[in-house]
Amino acid sequence: MKKKSRKGVRKAARRRSVTPHPNPPPQGGRGKQPLPQDRFDPAAFARKEAAVLGLGRSGVAVANLLAAKGFKVLASDTRPRKEMRPIARKLKACARWEAGGHSDRLLRCGFAVKSPGMAPGAPVLEKLRAAGVPIFSELEVALALAKPAELVAITGTNGKTTTTMLTGALFAAAGKRVHVAGNLGVPLSSMVPKIKRGDVIVLEVSSYQLEDSRRFHPAAAALLNVTADHLDHHGSMARYLAAKSRVFSSQTTQDVCVFNAGDPLAAQLARSCPGRRLFFGHQAAASIHAWVEGGKLQVKLPGHDLRTFDPPRLPGMHNLENAMAAVLVALARGLKPAAIQKGLRGFSAVEHRIEDCGNVRGIRCVNDSKATNVESTMVALRALGDANGARILLILGGLHKGFPYTPLKPFLGTAVKGILTIGSAARKVEEDLSGHVPILPCETLEKAVATGLQVGEKGDILLLSPACASFDQFKDFEDRGKQFKEYVKKAR
Ligand code: ADP
Repeated sequence: MKKKSRKGVRKAARRRSVTPHPNPPPQGGRGKQPLPQDRFDPAAFARKEAAVLGLGRSGVAVANLLAAKGFKVLASDTRPRKEMRPIARKLKACARWEAGGHSDRLLRCGFAVKSPGMAPGAPVLEKLRAAGVPIFSELEVALALAKPAELVAITGTNGKTTTTMLTGALFAAAGKRVHVAGNLGVPLSSMVPKIKRGDVIVLEVSSYQLEDSRRFHPAAAALLNVTADHLDHHGSMARYLAAKSRVFSSQTTQDVCVFNAGDPLAAQLARSCPGRRLFFGHQAAASIHAWVEGGKLQVKLPGHDLRTFDPPRLPGMHNLENAMAAVLVALARGLKPAAIQKGLRGFSAVEHRIEDCGNVRGIRCVNDSKATNVESTMVALRALGDANGARILLILGGLHKGFPYTPLKPFLGTAVKGILTIGSAARKVEEDLSGHVPILPCETLEKAVATGLQVGEKGDILLLSPACASFDQFKDFEDRGKQFKEYVKKAR
């Protein structure tokens, strides 16, 4: 058993999908210690024990992957033992685990895999660094243990999931074997056993995941937009930008990265991209490779004819941007325009993202629970607000993320006719937005739906686009969106 497992590790090492790269690894500047290990090399750690820090979805998946590949695993989480027991049941029998804190047993491990949610300066990480234990991201470990595949990565502050799923749909429409994974809730580690040589992996990558990735090297990437978010985790805007730039910083001139020309920070980061750069924008210009004209997507790659595509059936200009990013990636990777058009046509709304979930007495109900920041809510208001005046009853609130709600003011009275507040951010929302449209404090989502449907009129839109995190009242944004849909369904 042992012999076979080590062979598994060596075999995995031979198949490493991360290729060597001449550029020096980007330095995030967060640890004082020099990085002891450049990239995860399974063969170098074959007899070592792996410490897996944090047993969220990706932690469990990478612990199981490592165990299946013959590594000894010690999984560790700060949550109490009682809470961890059902989670630990998902671990393969050979993986050991500890709860209630990180013990010094971790320091005897050969390497560590860090949960992306863990703060970069967490004491246990400092201890591991001081003890010379290299720390890797779940993504890099999974890629190193997977068969060589074509890697496509999508990042940005907003639009990642939609663009990742759409890009996956375009590759699928071209008949490719495609695995869509990453930050969208399917850890790459859980897909590794299914990945065959030459398959396509379309990965949604968050800044948290990129921050820990030193040699992430996608053949094609897209950086959709960058606005201030997650600064509590990264510590500063500069570090957030450094994390985002890791999506392309290991690329070579053989690779391509797609950027939003209309986004100042994305366009600024593009300057340091070592790969081939492609840009999308709202209007045609010499430096733009995809734009919108007469409601169609126009794409002109250097040396190729102009191509025109019908966009997917998704609301809003932001989704046209997402579609342009996906189409540029697909064309740059050699997909045929007919397959791309087929993929675009077959694609429909992604759950919890401006998702229509029925009419109640003529009031259109829309679930945009994924709007966890003010920018996303503005996007939804732009997509749904129309020339007929203010018809939106907006459910706002949840767990406050520290940013003001004042950027929503221009929509009040123009697109929004009333606000229904929920959650612990309610007071702050009321403070920032009072004096423009009626604000009805509702505390709970259930009450907000009932109130919205009571005060709303035929032709109005009841929109859950809360601009806040969900963790004060819900498990996560999916739970919030599902509950919203349930309340709407009950009212029909
Ligand atoms: P992410 O995975 O980055 O959170 P999603 O595709 O899940 O992005 O979309 C979440 C929300 O972000 C959407 O409901 C919408 O309000 C907003 N959004 C989507 N695409 C974009 C975009 N390209 N630019 C700005 N906001 C966007």
